Amino acid sequence: MAKRVYLFLGNDLVIPRGMEDAEFLGGIDAGSVFPAFGELEYYTVPPIPGQKADDMPPGFLLPPDTPVPSGWQTLPVRRAAAFFSGPDKRGPSGAGDSSAGSSDRARRLLRIYHVLQWRRDSAYCGSCGAVNGDSPLELARLCPHCGRIEYPRISPAVITLVYRDDGRALLAHNKKFKPKLYSLIAGFTEAGESLENTVAREVKEEVNLDIRNIRYITSQCWPFPNSLMAGFTARYEGGKLKCDGQEILDAQWFTRESVLAGTPELPDPGSVSRCIIDHWLKGDPE
Ligand SMILES: [Zn+2]
Repeated sequence: MAKRVYLFLGNDLVIPRGMEDAEFLGGIDAGSVFPAFGELEYYTVPPIPGQKADDMPPGFLLPPDTPVPSGWQTLPVRRAAAFFSGPDKRGPSGAGDSSAGSSDRARRLLRIYHVLQWRRDSAYCGSCGAVNGDSPLELARLCPHCGRIEYPRISPAVITLVYRDDGRALLAHNKKFKPKLYSLIAGFTEAGESLENTVAREVKEEVNLDIRNIRYITSQCWPFPNSLMAGFTARYEGGKLKCDGQEILDAQWFTRESVLAGTPELPDPGSVSRCIIDHWLKGDPE
């Protein structure tokens, strides 16, 4: 029996009340779970090929209506992203300081959460409806009836910082954001598009701008439920700023001085959007 496990409830982790910050990344004591939740059928997600198999605590998705017992609390799974050790344009660094361990554990936690959700949602074959089994060869669902193979779904999405020659960058307020928070233009890739196509289309759709010099910066897994966020910068080319009014309620050109002085509020550290904004604040691109 594993010593540490993960319990998920919706988009939250369930942890003992009072657990120290960052400690949740390593999982919770398996012995404490049974008295509160009874016997659970944990699933152990295999590691990414090349990584250590004994380093993957089993996990369990609690049914959505599960009450949180006294002595326990919930914590958003996305909090794990705050422990990423600063991806830069060469990709996640994850090495060289004491935060590397936390960064690795955060990635592991997000992989486990991603795969558990996929397993729940792929219980039946998408072609014939039979109950899926697990492939003995790889991390995949295998239909015992028609042989259809289903791999964990990963949905690419882009997020883009548009900058101008005068040093300002476009930050936008999405209707889903809390008041005063501004971030980057984002959207999902459509079938038939390249990531660069998506960047240009989303910027045009949401704020009516034309762009050029689309440049990839970094990416990050974002399993809510199954995204891969790819971050870009792009230079303003033309067009009159006009928000779509559907997703984007406001967008403005901000100077570095204004952003560094705290206006507007920015996304949390660890997110791709924040990483790219920080990248721009340091003077790149230009
Ligand atoms: Zn089938």
